[in-house]
Amino acid sequence: MSYVALYRKFRPPVFEDVKGQDHIVTTLKNQIKSDRVGHAYLFCGTRGTGKTSVAKILARAVNCEHPVDGSPCGECDMCKEIAAGNSMNVIEIDAASNNGVENVREIIDEVSYSPTRGKKKVYIIDEVHMLSTGAFNALLKTLEEPPSYVVFILATTEVQKLPITILSRCQRYDFHRITIDTIEGRLKQVVDAEGIQVEERALRYIAKTADGSMRDSLSLLDQCIAFNYGEELTYDKVLNVLGAVDTEVFSKLFSAIYTQDINAALTLLADIVIQGRELSQFVNDFVWYLRNLMLVQASDQMEDVVDISSENLKALKAQAQEVDVDTILRYIRIFSELSSQMRYAAQKRILIEITLIKMCKPQMEKNDEALEDRLRILEQHDEENGKLLKGIQTGQVAVATSGMAPAPGAPTQMVKEKKVLDRAVPEDIKKIVAGWPRILAHMDNPMKTYMQKARLSLGNGDTLQIVLDNKLLADKYSDGAENEELQGILDEAVGKHVTFELKHLEAQQSFEENYVNLQAINFDIVTEE
Ligand SMILES: [Zn+2]
Repeated sequence: MSYVALYRKFRPPVFEDVKGQDHIVTTLKNQIKSDRVGHAYLFCGTRGTGKTSVAKILARAVNCEHPVDGSPCGECDMCKEIAAGNSMNVIEIDAASNNGVENVREIIDEVSYSPTRGKKKVYIIDEVHMLSTGAFNALLKTLEEPPSYVVFILATTEVQKLPITILSRCQRYDFHRITIDTIEGRLKQVVDAEGIQVEERALRYIAKTADGSMRDSLSLLDQCIAFNYGEELTYDKVLNVLGAVDTEVFSKLFSAIYTQDINAALTLLADIVIQGRELSQFVNDFVWYLRNLMLVQASDQMEDVVDISSENLKALKAQAQEVDVDTILRYIRIFSELSSQMRYAAQKRILIEITLIKMCKPQMEKNDEALEDRLRILEQHDEENGKLLKGIQTGQVAVATSGMAPAPGAPTQMVKEKKVLDRAVPEDIKKIVAGWPRILAHMDNPMKTYMQKARLSLGNGDTLQIVLDNKLLADKYSDGAENEELQGILDEAVGKHVTFELKHLEAQQSFEENYVNLQAINFDIVTEE
């Protein structure tokens, strides 16, 4: 016997077996029981939430000779015929590949023939949002007044793409994402029925990874079983097959970001890439890790909710004690955004790298949250300096005087003391002008783009004159965060405080132009006193 994918094999045969969509199932069953079946249904919802399964059950239920509590009996001729795929009464159309007017015309032509056997002809149109505008229009009239023996079931993952004229003619049912618990329960039934040994944690991980899709969860389970055929399916094996990353790696990554260690963060990412992990999955899993960290910090009774091994939980708790909840929340937000950006990105690795670098250098970001992070880091340094001071007072730490190497073990913050910068001299300004391309490399866009086109010169005294394209740009960098950022980059380039001035081309040009124009037209103007 050929192999049948689990999600096909365990497709629910009756409404009662459909998981996580009770609100829909109850309504449909009641319609069958009271013989008040509609003529057009619209099933919306994300992939794998049971739209097609429910459509198939409904198609059998409306044709069944003796429905049991609203579900198809599975025993009568019609039930058997449809289940075997031999019935002319159930027509499935995939709109993704049959989206033209002529495809819909075929359906309409066929609709006019009443069924030779059974009660209803059921048209299931999957991915209906893929139909062309012409096809929708062709379908409209039939959808409005179909013959009494016809039922349309339209299914879509993207309901917002449907014309309102279609929406208004259908009974709409929204399929929910399925909860992890519900998926896990169903997976348990499946592995029991298949006689497969699976660690409970492994099932839970698969359920979590499926992200609300029952079909995905069964496909993932299939994949894991195939890789470990005949063996017990453990948590570790599932992690391996699904390309998941160990919690320890996330813990290290978190520490690296939290302590601003860019090297460590990028090295970890490089390892992940070398291991061939799926990067979107990696980012999603990291968001889960952060979420767990947050929950563990919030309460002691989170063992059941965080779903990790006891030794990992211990490590998680230790990490949670060292961080504040605002920082975790900020990280969750950043990585959630990253995750959605990555969906359409070709260079996923670069996106992650940019995010890591930005997070390790909050001074590069200008929003309030980054500011909070900078404050946190400053406070931490203060705390460490405080400790150090205590150490010096009690004689435990050797004092690093200027000009000497810092004592071993002394925090590096002592070395990176903030100093008042000397004022840049004309020589320094000339260096900046000559080395501009190198300085540009330290800028992010859009600043980099604008500064690439800037004209530089030594202004009055020791001032750097930066001429930009227009007034708007010159104003932008004349004060506020942009000005500060530019100041920082310039200062860093020469190690001194650079005084600079922003000008714009328009001012110079317009002055010259106006001057010429004035001379030309001055005499024609009659001034009124
Ligand atoms: Zn039946």
